[in-house]
Amino acid sequence: MKNPYPNILFFLILLFPGFLISQSNEPRLDSLFQTLRTNEAALRIFFSAMPKGGDLHHHYSGSIYAEKYIDIAKSANAWINTVTLDIKFDSSDILMNKEWKKFLTLEKELGEYNFQQILLKHFSTKDYSQSDGITSYDDFFETFDRFGSSKNKLTDGSGLLWLKQNAIQQKVSYIETMLETIPCGKLTADFNHLNDSLLIYQASNDTTKLFNLFNSLKNSILNENNKLCLKNYLKELEKEHIRLQIDDSLFTLRYQTYVLRILPPIQVLSQMIVSFEAAKEDTLLVGINMVAPEHHPIALRDYRLHMRMFQYCAKMWPNVSVSLHAGELSEGLVSPENLHFHIQEAVDIAGAKRIGHGTALAFEQDVLSLIERMKAKKTVIEINYHSNRFILGSTHKNHPLYLYHKANIPMVICTDDAGVLRTDHNGEFIQIALDFPNLTYNDFKEFAFNSINHSFIKGVEVRKKLLEKLQRDFTHFENYFLHQYQNIFEK
Ligand SMILES: [Zn+2]
Repeated sequence: MKNPYPNILFFLILLFPGFLISQSNEPRLDSLFQTLRTNEAALRIFFSAMPKGGDLHHHYSGSIYAEKYIDIAKSANAWINTVTLDIKFDSSDILMNKEWKKFLTLEKELGEYNFQQILLKHFSTKDYSQSDGITSYDDFFETFDRFGSSKNKLTDGSGLLWLKQNAIQQKVSYIETMLETIPCGKLTADFNHLNDSLLIYQASNDTTKLFNLFNSLKNSILNENNKLCLKNYLKELEKEHIRLQIDDSLFTLRYQTYVLRILPPIQVLSQMIVSFEAAKEDTLLVGINMVAPEHHPIALRDYRLHMRMFQYCAKMWPNVSVSLHAGELSEGLVSPENLHFHIQEAVDIAGAKRIGHGTALAFEQDVLSLIERMKAKKTVIEINYHSNRFILGSTHKNHPLYLYHKANIPMVICTDDAGVLRTDHNGEFIQIALDFPNLTYNDFKEFAFNSINHSFIKGVEVRKKLLEKLQRDFTHFENYFLHQYQNIFEK
């Protein structure tokens, strides 16, 4: 039969000179991959060489390794609380008493090695043990409060540059990092009484009253002062991005801002409105997320209200992209009624293009119809497998990863908080390959391409360049790795 697509093939060869070679090497690489996949060390070698595209679910402060925070405190000889291990860089912030010592003094007293080990455990989940009397999810989430002002010290750019180098080393060419909340638009105490109104309207499911109140609050939040604050914030972000020369031929970084789901409702709304207004035109700030533990009592109480807020904002700013942590839950962590609707409300009400985690999929009401809708809408699932294993105790036996895949819901493999979890992007691919033997090399390759195709990056040209680079990198990998591997192990 005559090839019905001669022009397309010609175009592909022109666009990607390695297209034909790459196609022909895929089956051979998959055969090799199948022989390696039961051994973690062999998989480490394989995935360390494989291009991974982007990391789309990535928290800035949680992705940086504890050693970096310790270095910052040490080089500044910061103050450290000997009981809580809180770190302060300015003595005016602290009540001087014998609990506070200089970093180097305490290091001398405890010994450098012992002190380092204590701090590594404090700033990450390293050597976590249930017998310490803290749950894995509290150990994980509390780490973020422990960074304290060390996190601010990373704003000299060293944190972003560390992430960049770490990404390049792992063949990751794009990161969309959840950077911070935007420090503009905080409402005064005069508005506090409206918290109750929001909760009452939500309880009676009165969307008209809710949206009217959202609208009047929007006008108060986006006053001239706050708009100026926003403008300056975005200008600073861009200035820093350019000063650090983050984007180059090997790597591209974009930012998401986020809203904290455990704050009083009007503060959540204020953060959200400011975030949407900021992201509507900015090219570096490409999306909005919502963070903090989904099982927190306030997050649970206000979940439906938050989804209505997102629905309202999506109407006001239709071009802004949203990804939501949803269904990062497990049986027993919350009461059954809270397991049934988080993913579907994020998809259907909030209009999230991507869902972070989605671990509790199987507990959703009418789950098959939800899967159908996700499939129709091409909702993307961001898999954070190590994070789910640690926080929720997920295993390959109860994780819905393979269901998403079988249903053809686009999947991306992400790290969540590689610094806190002391993992990396290669490790995510490795663990999934070990635990889900039905996934082929082509599936993993597709996950890498998904991470660029479903990124929130703005600008057709930027995305096109990243896709071309990924294609070139795969062509090189498929030729080079096969050749090298056979030379070393099969001759
Ligand atoms: Zn996350």
